[in-house]
Amino acid sequence: MTRHIVQFSGGIGSFAVSLRVAEKYGTARMTLLIADTKIEDPDLWRFARDTSLLLDVPLTVVADGRTPWELFRDKRFLGNDRIAPCTKYLKQIPCRKWMKEHADAEESLVYIGIENSKRDRARIPAIARNWRPWRVRFPLCNRWQYALTKEQLLDEARSYGVEPPHMYSLGFEHNNCGGTCVRAGQRQWRHTLDVLPERFAYAEAQEEELRSVLGNVSILRQRRKGVGYALPLAELRRRHEEAQAEATSR
Ligand code: SF4
Repeated sequence: MTRHIVQFSGGIGSFAVSLRVAEKYGTARMTLLIADTKIEDPDLWRFARDTSLLLDVPLTVVADGRTPWELFRDKRFLGNDRIAPCTKYLKQIPCRKWMKEHADAEESLVYIGIENSKRDRARIPAIARNWRPWRVRFPLCNRWQYALTKEQLLDEARSYGVEPPHMYSLGFEHNNCGGTCVRAGQRQWRHTLDVLPERFAYAEAQEEELRSVLGNVSILRQRRKGVGYALPLAELRRRHEEAQAEATSR
């Protein structure tokens, strides 16, 4: 009998997928598999527990044990908006290890909750390739049946009595790594600085520590006349604070 394994990221898409899998196949052979990167927003775990209680499916938590920052130190490489080894080492490898031990590829299906946007649909071939030999399904990307907006997905969770993750109400697009994902762009990092300044400060300090060892590396890049330059978080903060001070003095 087929085993149904939802890659539960803690995002609203993974909740929606969990619901649909439960409705279609029941929960007896369902797994909610989640990788702990050790820097998630605490409310992600509340949301994951609420989902687990709703479906009566225990969470299966896997972890490398390191935070992204610890991993970057070990690898002597600062993850950034172009290359993020943390995804591989803290999420993919622990999940695949669990799958190898518990989920026969012939008898298992993996479900991913990416949302139904053109940009996300373009990621499907690469995600499916990464998961080989397991077969992957993307239930929210059935463009005819499930073309729901994020707001509709959040409302759906509320209608089941599950409060959506706090990070969305803070204005974040994704609920991952507590608003300090190294793949996020300048706009999200400025937003983190505005609404979660302590987390920004922690990330800034981590980046500075890595820069003292690795040289002029940075999570973000800026482009001037077609040439890319490092843009450390400390510099992004300084510019943002200056811009805000200028705006309020007008
Ligand atoms: S969410 Fe971002 S920071 Fe966290 S593991 Fe993935 S790429 Fe790395």
